[in-house]
Amino acid sequence: MRERLTPYLRTLAEKSPAVAQQHIKSELEEYDSRSFLVDPLAEDTNEVVKGLVHKYDNRALVKATLRCAAHCRFCTRFRQIGSPEGDLSKRDIENIGNYISDHPEIDDVILSGGDPLYVPKTTMDVLETLRPIDSIKVFRIGTRLPVHNPWSFDTPLLQKTVELIDDMGKERPFFVLMNFQHPDELTEDTLKVVKMLRRTSATLLSQTVFLKDINNSTEVLGKLFRGLYHNGVIPYYIYRCDYAQGVERFVCDIKEEQKIMTELRSTLSGIAYPTYVVDLPGHGKVPVPLGYWDGVDLSHARDFKGQEVQI
Ligand SMILES: *Cc1c(COP(=O)(O)O)cnc(C)c1O
Ligand code: SF4
Repeated sequence: MRERLTPYLRTLAEKSPAVAQQHIKSELEEYDSRSFLVDPLAEDTNEVVKGLVHKYDNRALVKATLRCAAHCRFCTRFRQIGSPEGDLSKRDIENIGNYISDHPEIDDVILSGGDPLYVPKTTMDVLETLRPIDSIKVFRIGTRLPVHNPWSFDTPLLQKTVELIDDMGKERPFFVLMNFQHPDELTEDTLKVVKMLRRTSATLLSQTVFLKDINNSTEVLGKLFRGLYHNGVIPYYIYRCDYAQGVERFVCDIKEEQKIMTELRSTLSGIAYPTYVVDLPGHGKVPVPLGYWDGVDLSHARDFKGQEVQI
């Protein structure tokens, strides 16, 4: 994955080591152990038609693109980001629509990527294609654009996209899931975007990844979650960093993560407190138990089917 930052992010990275570490390419990436997986979430095997991942029965993930405004060095899709291969043609979008129409058990569609808001034309096409499908009860879009390039929300194309989200959100629930890792990302410019999105009918949620030496502290994460909550964003998930090739240096000690999440539980409202999960390769997102109970072994977990998995 090549280095890519927006001018906005470059300026922020000069002031914030946390932002720099997340986005400036490091030579350490080359030394990661090869035991780490190229496709840790086994998404490729669940890609039913181009751009559509159908892993959970009722939920489907549309990969609208593999491009992003900037590249995060901890990205799960480390080996794919920036590639034109993820671009969707009109035909691909039609196929996705047809598959979802043919599978009425899918009631929840998540636009992901890459960053769907980085390709607003494609995203509007996908949304317009899926909008008439009544079996879809909930829409979501995952994005990091408010952090990577808040200025881009002033462009007519993104304004149109936000208007479409607002319109569709009046018909059925629409969630905008923003990716935030550190309180330094909550700048005036980014919070302006959050405020603008809050005026739409969408519900704002956030996702965070535990990153070693960047946010693995009770103080930093407490400040982040409180900051999000105070600005109307509900922290949804915090993930253990995936075992993807190239991101090994970011993976934290799971016992330390558990300790932080346990400490945070006593200082944050339940609304400001995300679910702490590990996305087990091929098994899905399994919640990690907090330290309120004795005798829990964190080296193994059981997935949703009861199968034992090594952490
Ligand atoms: C995370 C994920 C979802 C959504 O999971 P929720 O727990 O409903 O947020 C759906 N499909 C895939 C492939 C995912 O990785
Ligand atoms: S914005 Fe998301 S998909 Fe893009 S590089 Fe960052 S984490 Fe990966």
